[in-house]
Amino acid sequence: MKSILVRYGELTLKGNNRSVFITKLIQNIKFKLKHLKDFVEYKKDYNSLTIKVNAEKLDEVTAILTCVFGIYSISIVEIAPKETETILEKTLAIAQKLPTGTFKVEVERKDKSFAIASNDLKIQIAGNILRNTEHLKVDVHKPLSKINVVIKSDGVYIFTSRINAVKGLPVGVSGKGLSLLSGGIDSPVASYLAMKRGMQVDFLHFMTPPHTTPEALNKVFELAKTLEKYNQSSFALYVCDFAMILRELMHIKDESYRITIMRRIFIRIANQLAEKIKAKALITGESLGQVASQTIESINVINVTSKLPILRPLITYDKEEIITIAQKINTYETSVLPFDDVCSLYVPKNPVTKPKIAIAEIQEQDLLLSELIDYTINKSIKKYIFKEGELVEKAEG
Ligand code: ATP
Ligand code: MG
Repeated sequence: MKSILVRYGELTLKGNNRSVFITKLIQNIKFKLKHLKDFVEYKKDYNSLTIKVNAEKLDEVTAILTCVFGIYSISIVEIAPKETETILEKTLAIAQKLPTGTFKVEVERKDKSFAIASNDLKIQIAGNILRNTEHLKVDVHKPLSKINVVIKSDGVYIFTSRINAVKGLPVGVSGKGLSLLSGGIDSPVASYLAMKRGMQVDFLHFMTPPHTTPEALNKVFELAKTLEKYNQSSFALYVCDFAMILRELMHIKDESYRITIMRRIFIRIANQLAEKIKAKALITGESLGQVASQTIESINVINVTSKLPILRPLITYDKEEIITIAQKINTYETSVLPFDDVCSLYVPKNPVTKPKIAIAEIQEQDLLLSELIDYTINKSIKKYIFKEGELVEKAEG
């Protein structure tokens, strides 16, 4: 068995919410490792969690944990009994495997009942290493390697590296959000960032068959699945057939308002669905000024149709910054596959860049909006449920 020390990071700052957050985090970790439950054991204390792992599953567990929001960093640790002799022996064994160069020992005594002060223990460990090896020198400022020793109540934890995890807050502590997921680059990144701040995310995609192809829809499934490792283990993807409404939108007198009004309808439908599924916010991939429909005037005209807050995690991001995250979270490759989505169709020649609410409302008067929206909500939304990365159920909803 190997042991992994899991650090909670930001959670340590959160006063009263602390225990709620930690309980949620541990629950999320257990869900993510559910398929390995016969290979892992959990041990929880105030500031961290220790997971004992069957050695052959170590890499897999490490890879999963580094994507769980709320985890700050992890270390593969050796746990020794609290005896000076053993500590000296274990740290020497670790030192012997370090690369030639400089090192530093760090000791933290969490268990104050341990008889030797941190500094004295540090000197003993480093002295023992220097006497018994020839390839190492001490450098306390810029060491090549570090040997960390933490004295805890249940034993001495020894490790040489910290693996950074995604940080953020445990998914679920900020409630549920409904993310408008297109097949593009931005909305998967926006969804990821909402998850980062503790939001559990369900998805809503608008398609317009036959203009959008099954491949375009597959892309969206693929994106939702790719994000699963950061999300709640089970989540839903709602697919709304928008074709009928789109046909109606062709009757708008001022075609420059077509995209604006389509967006206003997306948001109305999303609000109604969110209410049904108890989502507390909508999430979009909009970025200020990126395209005509994302000027501050457009955002305002779209925004007023929403009762719920619309989170726009990318509002201040440049495309390049968005792409960097998309590549890191592995959604980029899928997003750039060339399949049309609703918005790349029916784009008017000159979309309005500074729409006005009053004009949008006048344009909408000619449409059978509330009937169409009601019909679409009741008849044209399909719900797909994912559990642990697999599509498990396809339900009408
Ligand atoms: P993305 O890269 O996310 O597609 P974009 O830069 O193409 O964004 P727009 O087409 O203006 O920008 O879309 C803005 C946002 O509206 C998207 O980020 C997404 O949240 C939402 N959206 C657009 N099209 C759809 C769709 N077909 N289904 C669901 N949401 C959509
Ligand atoms: Mg798009």
